[in-house]
Amino acid sequence: MLGQMMNFPLTISSLIDHAARFHGDTSIVSVNTGGGVEDTTWGQVGANARRLGDALLGLGLEPQARCATIAWNNRRHLEIYFGVSGAGLVCHTINPRLFPEQLVYIINHAEDRVLFIDRTFIPLVKAIRDKLPGVEHIVLMEGRDEAAAAEIEGLKFYDELIADGAPDFTWPEFDENTASSLCYTSGTTGNPKGVLYSHRSTVLHSFASNLNDCIGFSAMDVVLPVVPMFHVNAWGTPYACAMVGARMVLPGPGLDGPSLVGLIDTYRVGIALGVPTIWLGLLGEAQKSGSKLESLTRTVVGGSACPPSMITAFREEYGVETIHAWGMTEMSPLGSSNQPLAKHMDLPLVEQHALRENQGRPPWGVDLKIVDADGVELPRDGVAQGNLMVRGHWILDSYFLSTRDETLTDDWFHTGDVATLDADGYLSIKDRSKDIIKSGGEWISSVDLENIAIAHPALADAAVIGARHEKWDERPVLVAVAAEGQDPSEAEVLSIFEGRIAKWQVPDRVVFTDVLPRNATGKVLKRNLRESFGDVLIG
Ligand code: ADP
Repeated sequence: MLGQMMNFPLTISSLIDHAARFHGDTSIVSVNTGGGVEDTTWGQVGANARRLGDALLGLGLEPQARCATIAWNNRRHLEIYFGVSGAGLVCHTINPRLFPEQLVYIINHAEDRVLFIDRTFIPLVKAIRDKLPGVEHIVLMEGRDEAAAAEIEGLKFYDELIADGAPDFTWPEFDENTASSLCYTSGTTGNPKGVLYSHRSTVLHSFASNLNDCIGFSAMDVVLPVVPMFHVNAWGTPYACAMVGARMVLPGPGLDGPSLVGLIDTYRVGIALGVPTIWLGLLGEAQKSGSKLESLTRTVVGGSACPPSMITAFREEYGVETIHAWGMTEMSPLGSSNQPLAKHMDLPLVEQHALRENQGRPPWGVDLKIVDADGVELPRDGVAQGNLMVRGHWILDSYFLSTRDETLTDDWFHTGDVATLDADGYLSIKDRSKDIIKSGGEWISSVDLENIAIAHPALADAAVIGARHEKWDERPVLVAVAAEGQDPSEAEVLSIFEGRIAKWQVPDRVVFTDVLPRNATGKVLKRNLRESFGDVLIG
């Protein structure tokens, strides 16, 4: 017997319709790429999204045609998210920090037909234009600009394009499993792979994000997604915010400390999301400027391990709670977030604080397990370390234009991370499996060592790699960046590990460098570090 309830498809258009109808006058602040700050509303964003959807179908695009963006976090990008997917097309967000060859590969692999770009990226797109035969329309996300028109042949202008569309355009109806958006992994090894999200997976992911035990946006929040809209859809923030009608502050191109502190203080931002390196800049600036970040109550930190010293600084100096989250492109991206359990409230405060340091537990919708090298499940005891496997409503089934056999093992997705899990599902990420240090048959977590090192006041940044070793195969080497005006000795830096970690895990060497190499999403490129420093213990 079938249930007798309405079968209403879970679509992205339903999110923007809700925001526009019931939170129509809620403000969306946007820092524009051409300069200036604009204050608009969910109502306006909703109307423009419909205009855009109508205009795009008017261009003759067939269902599921890919429309790409190379853009910062701003109002027009938000409209594109909803307008493109709402119209049954696929919104493909591209990371502009990729190498030009990778951009060409991705755009051609995705068969993008439309390319929406911010002014910043005119030179980038101009340089690769002739390698993109499938792209029919390039749209500058602004009003008409003759100087820009002279740069790229046939350039269209967003404001003119949507002027051709109707604000009361009716969204097409389709199955909720229809593809809605596409992101490529940053492809540290090999070509980037496409992850094709569906309307259903996006809506369910938004529901989960909005659980109190996850991030829990609400109509009371002012939300600043510092995480770019080209980095796994800003972790789904635009969709989740539309679902509850939260206010948004879209920071545009300026992600430096002073710009962010300015936005937080001016627009009374309550919750901000981003990778750890961004917060290092922000905390440094807040300290310099004397801002108390008074409105800020929560930060969501993920993408790389959040050092415990950062959580402490937020809590003790600014009264800000850090929600440490873990995930990946293949998981939409939310896999876990650190929120406490009722039973933790009886513990002494120091213990409660310690429990907030790891990557947290999965929300409903994500299932996790750890397995050994043979695929045998390991105990959930907080001690055993294994390969982390996931499955759930918003987890990848197969990569774009690939098959599920190439991706899954017994219906589980291999995250490539090594972790421990405890009985309550709390996850502690030890490393990417390719980065973990294998010292004489024992594993050493580079993340654990980095968390300790970064707390050293004389260091601005730190990464640990496995360097080749004649006796132990690999031993940890700390690659450190000294803080401004500091010149710590190797012995001083190593002393921070004393009593905090078993002696055999203490790095063998410290090498200093000016800056750590990072990939397009801000992660340290360990492979490059191994190339530079992998032999420092030999000979
Ligand atoms: P890429 O940057 O390669 O596109 P993702 O952004 O999808 O990839 O990154 C996913 C990986 O980032 C995870 O598998 C994990 O190794 C790492 N990661 C994400 N969040 C955390 C976290 N909170 N702690 C430790 N590692 C994390």
